[in-house]
Amino acid sequence: MKHLILLLAWVWVLIAPTAQAKDELEINDSSQPRIALNQWMDISTKEVMSLNALMRLSEDDWQPLKTGDTERIGVSQFWFRLKVANGLGYNYRVLSLNNPLLDRIEIFHLENGRLIDQAIMGDSLPFSQRPVKSTGFLFPIEMEPNSEHTLYVRIDSRGAAHLNFMLLSPKLMYQQMESYLLLNGAQLGALAAIGLFSLFIALTSKSFSYAYYSGYVLSMTLLVAAINGFAFRFLWPSLPQMQLYAIPFLIPLVMAFAVMFTEKLLQLKRHSMRQLRLSRATAAIAVFISLISPLMPYDLAIRIQIIMVLAISSMLMFFAIRQAIKGDKLARLYSIGWCTMLAGALYTGLLYLGILHADYKPQLPVMVGLTFEVVFMAAVLAIRYNDERRAKQAMQEKALEQAQRLQDLREEALRDEEKTKQQLERMVQERTLELEITLRELNEANQKLTEKATVDSLTQLKNRRAFDKRLVAEGRISRRQQTALSLLMADVDHFKAINDSYGHLAGDEILRQVAELLQSQLKRPSDLLSRFGGEEFAIILPNTSAEGAILLAEQIREAVLDADIEWEGKAIPLTISVGVSAAIIESDEHPTELLEQADKALYQAKQTGRNKVCLYSPKDTTVTEFRSRM
Ligand code: GH3
Ligand code: MG
Ligand code: MG
Repeated sequence: MKHLILLLAWVWVLIAPTAQAKDELEINDSSQPRIALNQWMDISTKEVMSLNALMRLSEDDWQPLKTGDTERIGVSQFWFRLKVANGLGYNYRVLSLNNPLLDRIEIFHLENGRLIDQAIMGDSLPFSQRPVKSTGFLFPIEMEPNSEHTLYVRIDSRGAAHLNFMLLSPKLMYQQMESYLLLNGAQLGALAAIGLFSLFIALTSKSFSYAYYSGYVLSMTLLVAAINGFAFRFLWPSLPQMQLYAIPFLIPLVMAFAVMFTEKLLQLKRHSMRQLRLSRATAAIAVFISLISPLMPYDLAIRIQIIMVLAISSMLMFFAIRQAIKGDKLARLYSIGWCTMLAGALYTGLLYLGILHADYKPQLPVMVGLTFEVVFMAAVLAIRYNDERRAKQAMQEKALEQAQRLQDLREEALRDEEKTKQQLERMVQERTLELEITLRELNEANQKLTEKATVDSLTQLKNRRAFDKRLVAEGRISRRQQTALSLLMADVDHFKAINDSYGHLAGDEILRQVAELLQSQLKRPSDLLSRFGGEEFAIILPNTSAEGAILLAEQIREAVLDADIEWEGKAIPLTISVGVSAAIIESDEHPTELLEQADKALYQAKQTGRNKVCLYSPKDTTVTEFRSRM
């Protein structure tokens, strides 16, 4: 910004009227504590190397100092002369050259034509060379009563000369120094604090806007410190070279950071890709200029930079105002901040040019504007950061809500699934139960059916099928255990006649009664009575010898004989014939043979008169008759 003003000043130089210099300054101990010297100064641009040569110059070689001489950029071998006549009293004053950026100043103090003091200083020389350790250049002058003094000042500087010779009383000098230190210190402190604070925020929050902003503020702090001489005094007092390179390096850097920071603040990425590209290119160019400037001739670098500062400031202002017009809150605030700095710069410019006048130093407004801008931008950035944080928070809340809704839906689906699963399980269980019941019923029915298949429906005795099966089984037991197996074959005598006389129903009933009677005669649970067919009954007697079998057969025959069998009140006399066979089974076919033998014995009983028991004898295949009583 300072250079913007310098440019304006430079333009002014070309059109400014020349000031009329006076011959000799007369002072005494009661003179003003501050005397502006420019109007008392003469200037010579003759190439003079030594004091002697200088003193030999004719009056024609000296011209009164003009504004154009004081405001030029780049001065080389410029000699200035001041003549002072001191009055009656002793006088102590300080010559002040308040441009801390002058490269080299050589001062000779002559009293009554005799050299009494001299000094060389400048920001191209170590700080320690200065007669008064101050950021500005100060040269103390002691004046005896009634003395004539001539001061020769030679200035070489590649930057802006901005020469403003002053004669100050020591008291005023200290006051000025103090307020200068205080003001500049406060400004630098504020800038450095904001810059560092932003840097920490940038590091912790990884925010690019804060990073660029801290870059902007810190490079600006350094630039201000370099311009007002603080950097030279406190940062690199013995490195005058740094003083040469720092400013041309820092100005483009400040601008580059300003562009990058503005790009983030105005969110150019969202608003205009063209502006974004333009600002990035500008930032890159600024960085490039920053790097090459220290290699360029100083005045060329400064000229390029003035143009660059003007161009970038206008560009940023244009971006900001365009967005502000569109209604962007941040762009409006940004424009206000930027305008404040420009206003300060303009004011300073007008002070420099003498169009406006003020008691304070001309750079005060630009420094105030700049500080205000930096503080204001910090606030704008904070607002932006907060806006962003709030937007992010809102988005997070929304995302959380959505996640919650999704979770709810998932849980609901899971509940539904669980419910369906339970229903399905219940259904399967019900079906299984039904199936089990059906199976059990089927089993029972099956069992019943099997049982039915083995039971004779009329007499409820085992039928022929059951008999056959049992015969095989008992045959195996007999064979294995070598025990006798006996068979009885009983047949009702003359049953046909009963049917004929009383009818078939009577025959059936009688058969039932005979069956009951026969069953009651069997005592062992292993004995099996079955209806063999018609009115024939077969009895298996396991583990029973022929004798036992005959005994039982006889018992049965007698029981039937003695039974009171009736039909419709009439007694029906009844007898049976029984064939008996017995053996220890020896082969698989043996049981069938045993059955045939019982049948043969029965046949014998029938043939020989009925109502008797006959035993088949295997040895001679004869049948023996048994009958205890008729
Ligand atoms: P015998 O045995 O003494 O030689 O004379 P029988 O009259 O018993 O002769 P046979 O064995 O030839 O006749 C059996 C008769 O028994 C034939 C049939 O009328 C009768 N009968 C067979 N089964 C049944 C039956 O289930 N119910 C009735 N009511 N009669 C039957
Ligand atoms: Mg028969
Ligand atoms: Mg019969």
